Amino acid sequence: MAEIADKLTAVREQIHAACGRVGREPNSVELIAVSKTIPAALIRDAYAAGQMCFGESRQQEAAPKIETLPAALRWHFIGRVQHNKVRKLLPAFEVIHAIDSLRLATYTAELAGELGLFPQVFLQVNVAGEAAKGGFEPALLRAEMATLLQLPRIEILGLMTIPPAAENAEAARPWFARLRELRDSLEREFAVRLPALSMGMSGDYEVAIEEGATHVRVGSAIFGNRSYQVDGQLG
Ligand SMILES: *Cc1c(COP(=O)(O)O)cnc(C)c1O
Repeated sequence: MAEIADKLTAVREQIHAACGRVGREPNSVELIAVSKTIPAALIRDAYAAGQMCFGESRQQEAAPKIETLPAALRWHFIGRVQHNKVRKLLPAFEVIHAIDSLRLATYTAELAGELGLFPQVFLQVNVAGEAAKGGFEPALLRAEMATLLQLPRIEILGLMTIPPAAENAEAARPWFARLRELRDSLEREFAVRLPALSMGMSGDYEVAIEEGATHVRVGSAIFGNRSYQVDGQLG
């Protein structure tokens, strides 16, 4: 399907342009093509157009797709993590984006040890303190950071957020900036490197990149609008 290739090209061009505006290297941004609800055949089209990295948000939906698609694809889990799914997620996904509690992080580290794996993770932050949204409250994250950093087996790449839904991309900018500032202050306070920021979706990835995103999670701008809601976190 040429359409997906064209959309991918357009998104890559926008990423390039956003990097250019703030003096960043385009290859400092990983484009995660969010393929939830998208059938394997269309994911294959994106792969044929050079896309290697894909994001899924439900383990049951992702498993059969991952199994049928070429092993060269790299999978990021971007959805809310249910404890009873971690054992299946760890071998299939290279990066888990939404570790949202110390309890989940501890359990993930434990299972990683059992499975002989070293997963990379993001800590999800609820930057706006929204009741319905997952993620650490910034103050709680700071309080638990030392413990999180001592967990064996899991490599904390950085922070992830989903800002409040908004009409326009600029409305998300302050939340993206807040996540970056929180990351910067945690790095100073705990003398640690948290190099990655997972933020920005189809509607606002360019703004996110201007504010420092290293991983953008882009679905509908590549695959078109999804026809149904996927999970409680985000459709
Ligand atoms: C679905 C989803 C996305 C992609 O959303 P689009 O608006 O289609 O780009 C990004 N991040 C998360 C966590 C999602 O669940």
